[in-house]
Amino acid sequence: MTENDIILLVHPEISRTKYNFAGIIDNEPLELEYIWAMLAREGYRPYIWDGQVEKIPFRERLHELRPAAVYICGRTRQEGFMKEYALEAKKAGAVAMIGGLHAQRCYNRFFRSAADYIFTGFDPSAVTDVLGGKSPETISSLCWKKDGHWVVNKAVPHDIRTLIRPDRSYFYQHADRYRYLELLPAAHVRTAYSCPYRCSFCIRNRLNCGVYSQRDIEDVVDEIAQIECENIYIIDDDFLFGEERLEQFVTLIRQRGIHKRYVCYGRADFIAAHPKLMGRLAEIGLYYVLVGIESADDSHLRSYGKLSDNSVNVKAVKLLGSLGVNTMGMFIVDLDFTAADFRNIWKWVVKNDLRHAAVSIFTPEMNTELIKKYRSRLITRDPSHWDYLHVVAKPAKLSVRRYYFHYHVLLIRLFLRAWRQGIYDFIDYRFFIGSMIKNMFGFGG
Ligand code: SF4
Repeated sequence: MTENDIILLVHPEISRTKYNFAGIIDNEPLELEYIWAMLAREGYRPYIWDGQVEKIPFRERLHELRPAAVYICGRTRQEGFMKEYALEAKKAGAVAMIGGLHAQRCYNRFFRSAADYIFTGFDPSAVTDVLGGKSPETISSLCWKKDGHWVVNKAVPHDIRTLIRPDRSYFYQHADRYRYLELLPAAHVRTAYSCPYRCSFCIRNRLNCGVYSQRDIEDVVDEIAQIECENIYIIDDDFLFGEERLEQFVTLIRQRGIHKRYVCYGRADFIAAHPKLMGRLAEIGLYYVLVGIESADDSHLRSYGKLSDNSVNVKAVKLLGSLGVNTMGMFIVDLDFTAADFRNIWKWVVKNDLRHAAVSIFTPEMNTELIKKYRSRLITRDPSHWDYLHVVAKPAKLSVRRYYFHYHVLLIRLFLRAWRQGIYDFIDYRFFIGSMIKNMFGFGG
């Protein structure tokens, strides 16, 4: 590398339309903060540009800083922006590096971009290895160019216990923006990579080469104690796993006198089977649990390999309600849905008095067996549509237009219900409902 020690770390904006739930859930760029910490330790001067919160356009920031290298992360829906920023970085004379969740599984989609390096693992030290001039042949989980051709080094799982603490300076500077619903600010904490389950629609269990890796819980609690934020969003794909570890979590949080609110993902079967433990988690501040209810009927749950059924979902929602913990019930609207199936989700929500519900359109993830199955039905190849808000493959029983119609009716009903119940009072309901009504007739035409 050159004498220039400035490295710009980039998380592109989620979308360039206003219909993207920005201002409702805005995530701390934790992955970049880990790389920041690693870079600072090696004597570099890192900067973050997060398109969710920045007011200065990327290009302006790039030309102002003139970094030696630019690292860009993102998800599938941000692929276009990632490529665009890599090109800008190259034009500005910087080394262009791509990483993040999408690149882990779909690195070859960046082969025709301006990228010089693509990182396919979680280990942040791969970035400093590349910048420090280590021979690329020796760096795992890396794609690099030799004589103009891409070389794909073997991806290896990263042991999360070797992670250093992230540098949260950027989070603190933008604490007025990073939120989970009404919890503002909300700091992210990761305690594990990947997921031990294998639900068929889910990409999360394939990350980190499909290897589930957990941090020591003492270290997690120590980190939480040091974060200057009342709200902690544990972003593990499934935090409620391992009874003993969670019991220890409760004990340590109590021993250290930590008083915060927690958000985490958890499976309904675990919740339903552990009422006492859930009670103890509620006592130490468990506030939201994001639960994959997925479907109002057991046949879909079976086809997803969820290893659970609806009676368990009902039990989990009831239990959390009785403990005063908010359930964020997450549903999938399948591509084989009829109009009645959309209505059944609505009925499930009302019957089980679920206050918080989120709905995703079934999306076969790129580079999975599932997308092979749906390939002939794909109606778009635009990666920005892999946002769970778009239909990417032809529905089986409805036209695309009718499918969107029923989907938007469901969303509007859920939004109106939330509005009536007085939740999410920080959001502009009129704007969102107006957009949905427009989309009811405008999508899929
Ligand atoms: S849906 Fe949840 S439990 Fe299933 S594999 Fe994905 S993260 Fe794991």
